[in-house]
Amino acid sequence: MKYHIDTIPVWDAYHQEGECPLCNLENKIEKSYVESFLGGSVMEPDTRIEVNKTGFCPHHFQLLYDAQNRLGLALMTHTHLKEFMEKFQQRSNAILKANKGRDTSILGNIIKGRKDVQQAISEFEEWLIKQHHQCIICNRMTNNMNRYAYTILYLWDTDKEFKETLKSSKGFCLKHLALTIKIARETLPSHKQTLWLAEVIPLQTKSLHNLEQELSQFINKFDYRNQDKPLGSAKDSLPRTIQKLTGKFMD
Ligand SMILES: [Zn+2]
Ligand SMILES: [Zn+2]
Repeated sequence: MKYHIDTIPVWDAYHQEGECPLCNLENKIEKSYVESFLGGSVMEPDTRIEVNKTGFCPHHFQLLYDAQNRLGLALMTHTHLKEFMEKFQQRSNAILKANKGRDTSILGNIIKGRKDVQQAISEFEEWLIKQHHQCIICNRMTNNMNRYAYTILYLWDTDKEFKETLKSSKGFCLKHLALTIKIARETLPSHKQTLWLAEVIPLQTKSLHNLEQELSQFINKFDYRNQDKPLGSAKDSLPRTIQKLTGKFMD
């Protein structure tokens, strides 16, 4: 897999600091996708076709719904619904037909048909699950995030200044640490994959240790004897720990 590099947003994300630069980037592109899908600008024909076909996952429908452009969302949802209904009709006709054919001979159904019918029902179920999980925003974000993770690996490998910046960062959240390892496995030779792990694992360990200390300080603050002790950076240690563990910003 070949990825393009995109250094400026990656540098910006490192300058923002925080628990994970890839979370910063993901948050930024997610907001811009939600805005662009509901914005006044005319959607590219290719995008319109993809929205009709794919729709949005529950999480992104929620973000679009919360953005309060109900007409824009209703129009997109309506065309997507119509396209879905056509596919649903075809699929359900096929499955009803498969079942009906078997009903004509109960004995035949028992002897040889059950497996086919079960297979058709299971495929129908899988198809339904796939429909409600697929999402044009998720697809586009995945492509962007792969590219950003690749850019981080590329800069680490080629740019001394970046290497220093990375060394003073807090590593990544677990989700994005896994993403960097996936992209490293796809794009780097084996010895560089090992070097990458040797670089990031100490950062992760240090960051997890610091969060543990801060969270403990935060918990102790609830004891009335510690009421007057200043919290400092431990103040937002709970949302930062959740982000570190899951890649999710707490609003
Ligand atoms: Zn992250
Ligand atoms: Zn999505």
